[in-house]
Amino acid sequence: MLYLDNSATTKIHSEVLEAMLPYLQEEYGNPSSKFYSLAENAKKAVSMAREQVAHLLGCDPDEVVFTSGATESNNMIIKGVADYYGYNEDASKYLLTSAAEHPSVLETFEFLGERGYTAHFLDVDSFARVNVQNVATVVNQEQPLLTSIMWGNNEVGSLNPIDELSRLFATNGLFFHTDATQVIGKVPVDLRKLSGIRFLSMSGHKIGGPKGVGAAIIRKQSKEIYTRLTPLLHGGGQENNYRSGTLAVHNIVGLGKAAELASQNLENNTQRLTQLENYLIDILKTNLGDKITFNSDTHDKIPGLISLQFIGVNNELLLKKLSSFIALSSGSACSSSKPSHVLSASGKSLEEVRQTIRITLSADVNERELDLFREIK
Ligand code: PLP
Repeated sequence: MLYLDNSATTKIHSEVLEAMLPYLQEEYGNPSSKFYSLAENAKKAVSMAREQVAHLLGCDPDEVVFTSGATESNNMIIKGVADYYGYNEDASKYLLTSAAEHPSVLETFEFLGERGYTAHFLDVDSFARVNVQNVATVVNQEQPLLTSIMWGNNEVGSLNPIDELSRLFATNGLFFHTDATQVIGKVPVDLRKLSGIRFLSMSGHKIGGPKGVGAAIIRKQSKEIYTRLTPLLHGGGQENNYRSGTLAVHNIVGLGKAAELASQNLENNTQRLTQLENYLIDILKTNLGDKITFNSDTHDKIPGLISLQFIGVNNELLLKKLSSFIALSSGSACSSSKPSHVLSASGKSLEEVRQTIRITLSADVNERELDLFREIK
């Protein structure tokens, strides 16, 4: 079976699994306990993972908050900022996002929209990207309490103009969050150069790490002053009071190792994914010609993610037909039962949405395996 659904999840990297195992077996201490070595070892392991994630993203280790994944990070940041800063009567109640976000952002905005906030969903272009000028106009007019715009889209792979967005928010000082789940390990991320990004979400299982772990990056206001938010989980005060609950040390160690590998392999990974993508696109174009169209720009996209429309072919039927030898999806794994809101927001008709499939490569696939696509006529 050729697995080409790496935006849905990735296979755990063998070095990640190896790093995790001791923390499920002999090193099972609780990092919040004190004095004895089992606890100290767990604490050291968590601290190393925090450094590995911080190194990957270009932030300080104390700006990394471990969560259960990007869904939780998105919820934590958006609800947490809205509650903590919006609690004040005079604060803006305006929240801004785009119509092409992941459901964990969209649904959170909708939830807050029903609780006294104004949630605004920006239009996107035909490749699901926001227009910076439109963002700036709304931001200047409405002074949102929080703006959340994803870095790279999980369904079509387009990249939003993150440098320009960061510059906009660095200048106006307003809160800006980006869901970077799909770009980590595929494009360079250096938060030191993107000072307008105050919050970022990421997930372990998209980068060869385990499922059930991720991080919320909450940048400090200055060297000493932390950005506060109302926690989703109240309790023992772990993670600097941002997220209570005993830390899942094995998962955190796995995320740390996956982050280390992602930074070490970034250049090779990106190059290989681009090479494989070009190879596959050549096959598809040669084989299928005008029977297909692509849903993202050829530049400014996540390497290895191809979203395409098979004109006149129902995607579910096609995926079922291929499913015994290639694992692909029609879009995001989270919302595959509903027609894609991303493609609809990009101006695609329901018919076009139903003809779309997403192929997401991994660097360990080889050209010979991709030759399977020559069989599709
Ligand atoms: N954000 C984006 C852009 C995603 O692609 C996903 C997963 O598909 C998520 C958030 C949710 O991530 P997790 O599975 O870690 O909750």
